[in-house]
Amino acid sequence: MGTTSVLEEKHLTVQEESLELFNSTQTIIHEALHYLGYPEEMYEVLKEPLRMLTVRIPVRMDDGKIKVFTGYRSQHNDAVGPTKGGVRFHPEVNETDVKALSMWMSLKCGIVDLPYGGGKGGIACDPREMSFRELEGLSRGYVRAISQVVGPTKDIPAPDVFTNPQIMAWMMDEYSRIREFDSPGFITGKPVVLGGSHGRETATARGVTICVEEAAKKRGIELTNARIVIQGFGNAGSYLAKFMHDAGAKVVGISDAYGALYDQDGLDVDYLLDRRDSYGTVTNLFNNRITNEELLEKECDILIPAAIANQITKKNAKNIKASIVVEAANGPTTLEATKILTKRGILLVPDVLASSGGVTVSYFEWVQNNQGYYWGEEEILAKLRTVLVDSFEKVYTSASQHQVDMRLAAYIVGIRKMAEASRFRGWV
Ligand code: GLU
Repeated sequence: MGTTSVLEEKHLTVQEESLELFNSTQTIIHEALHYLGYPEEMYEVLKEPLRMLTVRIPVRMDDGKIKVFTGYRSQHNDAVGPTKGGVRFHPEVNETDVKALSMWMSLKCGIVDLPYGGGKGGIACDPREMSFRELEGLSRGYVRAISQVVGPTKDIPAPDVFTNPQIMAWMMDEYSRIREFDSPGFITGKPVVLGGSHGRETATARGVTICVEEAAKKRGIELTNARIVIQGFGNAGSYLAKFMHDAGAKVVGISDAYGALYDQDGLDVDYLLDRRDSYGTVTNLFNNRITNEELLEKECDILIPAAIANQITKKNAKNIKASIVVEAANGPTTLEATKILTKRGILLVPDVLASSGGVTVSYFEWVQNNQGYYWGEEEILAKLRTVLVDSFEKVYTSASQHQVDMRLAAYIVGIRKMAEASRFRGWV
């Protein structure tokens, strides 16, 4: 794809990178609708969100001054049901990014067959530099600003980058005060005492693990002793390392922002987790570290990019040694690299499928809130497994049926229900 090569050759600004993400999402949706035999009008309806709200949120900071933050809420399409998706707090959040991410949520919800369309929210801020009190003011202010367009049967927020159960709790409390009744189903990812679900915190990593297991079966790889490289040792990456290690696999490589560690005989995951918890980082504690780029090309059976976007590009795709790549991060492989990997016979499990465990357990949380009856962790994990194994199979079958790569196959599965619902409602 011409646009992707631009990204690989020069460093893009945040705005340009967001536009790139948005354009490539549109391109694949267009292609997927074509495979499903829809007329161009369907693309006209689905090519961007139906609603995008921009708000300005004044917050009194600890120094006594007012600071005004900009926030967004994007709702891609609600033909299937209420929209759903996280809220991220990050300095680089912008309108284009939030729009593209809400479209990704539509695809995720479609792939795992949830009764939702995609939504996404964000606030341009740096939560690492804000006090607890300032964060509470910002979270509550955001809910007041968007309260007209959200709700348990309209649009249901959740955690995303740099937001957590405490922030969800403040937001739920603010919404409940505005509506004057307790509304746990307004938001997911809450603390368990406030109607949060067991298993939500680890759900994304568990979902990735299930995809790794299914992919390994397809390639005839025994997970016990399979060599795994995980790029990223943050929330997702570290849970993943633990789950892989517990499943008997050999984690041979990990990385963080400072570099990477690789040992073909297997790393001591529990020890590294302990170091990370004590010092915040891990790779800079060791002398024999290599770079993140080197790690990606190391010998292994399964490679899991769980850090940031655009890591596997047309430059290094030909050097990847793994026979399976499972995308735990958002957009770690460019579209050109996806084609190269697929041509080389490498099984790529795309982000929209691999990272859908989080929203799946969010759905379970919302169902529990709506019925006021709560399930145990075992039941939730079993349900999550059923959903993800089925979804993996659907995407895998769609890839061979249409003779397309796994990313396009996932988009075909993901957009189908939304297109059907839009047609039945008479919108197209
Ligand atoms: N932010 C997560 C995602 O992007 C979870 C969304 C949700 O739970 O609604 O998938």
